[in-house]
Amino acid sequence: MTTHQFQSEVSQLLHLIIHSLYSHKEIFLRELISNASDALDKLKYLTLTDDAFKQFEFEPRIDLSYHDDGEKILTVADTGIGMNQQDLIDNLGTIARSGTKKFLERMTGDAKKDSNLIGQFGVGFYSSFMVADKVEVISRKAGEEQAYRWVSDGKSDYVIEEAERDTPGTTVILHLNEAGKEYVDRWQIQEIIRKYSNHIPFPIFLHYEEAEYDKDGNKKGTKSKVEQVNTASAFWKQPKSQLKEKDYKEFYKTLTNDFEDPLLYIHTQAEGTLDYTTLFYVPKKAPFDLYYSEYKPGVKLYVKRVFITDEDKELMPTYLRFIKGIIDSEDLPLNVSRELLQQNRILAKIKSNSVKKILSEFKNLAKDPKKYIQFYEQYSRPLKEGVYQDLDNRETLLELMRFKSTKVDGYTSFAEYVERMQKDQKAIYYITGENEAALRRSPLLEMYRQRDIEVLIMDDEIDDLVFPAVAKYKDYELKAVNRSDAVEDLKTEQDKKVEKDLKPLTKKIKKVLGDHVKDVIVSSRLSDSPACVVADANDPTVQMQELLKAMGQVGGPPVKPILEVNPDHPIVKKLSTMKKNRAFDDVCWLLLEQALLLEGVKPENPADFVKRLNTVLEKAL
Ligand code: ADP
Repeated sequence: MTTHQFQSEVSQLLHLIIHSLYSHKEIFLRELISNASDALDKLKYLTLTDDAFKQFEFEPRIDLSYHDDGEKILTVADTGIGMNQQDLIDNLGTIARSGTKKFLERMTGDAKKDSNLIGQFGVGFYSSFMVADKVEVISRKAGEEQAYRWVSDGKSDYVIEEAERDTPGTTVILHLNEAGKEYVDRWQIQEIIRKYSNHIPFPIFLHYEEAEYDKDGNKKGTKSKVEQVNTASAFWKQPKSQLKEKDYKEFYKTLTNDFEDPLLYIHTQAEGTLDYTTLFYVPKKAPFDLYYSEYKPGVKLYVKRVFITDEDKELMPTYLRFIKGIIDSEDLPLNVSRELLQQNRILAKIKSNSVKKILSEFKNLAKDPKKYIQFYEQYSRPLKEGVYQDLDNRETLLELMRFKSTKVDGYTSFAEYVERMQKDQKAIYYITGENEAALRRSPLLEMYRQRDIEVLIMDDEIDDLVFPAVAKYKDYELKAVNRSDAVEDLKTEQDKKVEKDLKPLTKKIKKVLGDHVKDVIVSSRLSDSPACVVADANDPTVQMQELLKAMGQVGGPPVKPILEVNPDHPIVKKLSTMKKNRAFDDVCWLLLEQALLLEGVKPENPADFVKRLNTVLEKAL
């Protein structure tokens, strides 16, 4: 017999589960059954694909029983793959799942623990300790003779010793505590299984004792009975016509551990050149690991109802990593290599059909704007990644985008923008930056406001990366108003003349500012402000550079802004009559610094800035 310490994260997780999931404590049973089902899946796969297991007698089943002999005991047994000594140490003493550490940090720092989140995370085997003060696991690995017993009170350590088990599989024995004693009850157990585990594809049997009575109604003893309590069918294979919304929601919960209903489900039973079934769900709340690089894939692959893998990230494009569900193919061979899945043509076709189907359902969802915004607020970021990455579906993805705008309240789409466009307008204009309120006040919008041209407000970091790469929506160019080329097609003959006339002035200003600016030009977009900065057509914008800096990205020469000055503004008018002297220089610098400030960039040298400002103020007073 050997004693082992739990890895420190396990103790942390145990503590967290016990304290935050208490009101959902019945899920321990779902977790144990789901583990048993996974173990059966694994062995089934081996018996179908591995020669060493071809002759193996395999009767997949899960058996539940309970006893009350003073001590209350609940037992969950399976005929699955089983665990040897090392497996027990690796699986029930450590947390292997990546992302767990980050998750724990987030959860333990937060006083108001969200049971939804921790539920989604999948608390697994350790949830047993909510209802038991001692847990025993007796397991024998398929293909091996020796069985082992793992025992723990879920505090800080566990012991492992040799044990007996006639057949391969795992038996989990819960010694129930005060909170768990209600589960030695046939009706309770049945109810929980129907709620959470009805569609586990293996039969679950419940063993119970039933009282027997003689003909006068006197109890004469008890009789042992066994009853199958689940339907044990592959849910997704049932005809769609027989399934109700309620059934889909129930299955979703079995599949994902989410306590909430899904936002959407998409069930496809395809027959023809390819035979396959898919059932996809969109969770109401974005999965907690959406932005972890080591996220857990949400889609499971089955072949002819046999579970193949839930670890393949390639089953969906990364931008659809929030989709949960299953793909079940009739055409793939059962022993399809998990390593070579990506190169499989059948699977590639199923995937591309699925993506198209999913995106078209999103488009459908958009017909209900209120529901759509709920969805969009959770998933706009990954969808924008899609706009960037998925060239095949870019058009559809662009239709799914929503933005704030200078013309309408709430959100609008590209299509709606185009409908409102002016007759001769050829481009769609947008402004990017991190803060909606600041963007709305930006001097860059002045000309558009004057000419009554709508500008989309893009205040999501990722916008600045995605939309410059897109270039077009249908026949309309997308133009960022904080770039120099956005006004080119809006310039009048008069603008061009003024530009020429003021060339000497802009040259003089450029001389003062030197290589702090890329260029100084006459602006045709300003009305109230004296100056603004823009980025050259192909340079990253000022905000983008700030963002890259904040992310610790250095490299390449610093990109300089273009300073635009407003020829109609009194300050600029005055400048054009001045000689180049100290006062002229100060004003030039102040024009640049104030324009940068409006874009959220601090003056390079605040002390110099303040000094200049004071010199000018002194003169003015
Ligand atoms: P999860 O199931 O999310 O991986 P658990 O903590 O529930 O996390 O289980 C940890 C691991 O222990 C499982 O991944 C599996 O390898 C193993 N395990 C748990 N229960 C069983 C079982 N009944 N049969 C075989 N292996 C099991």
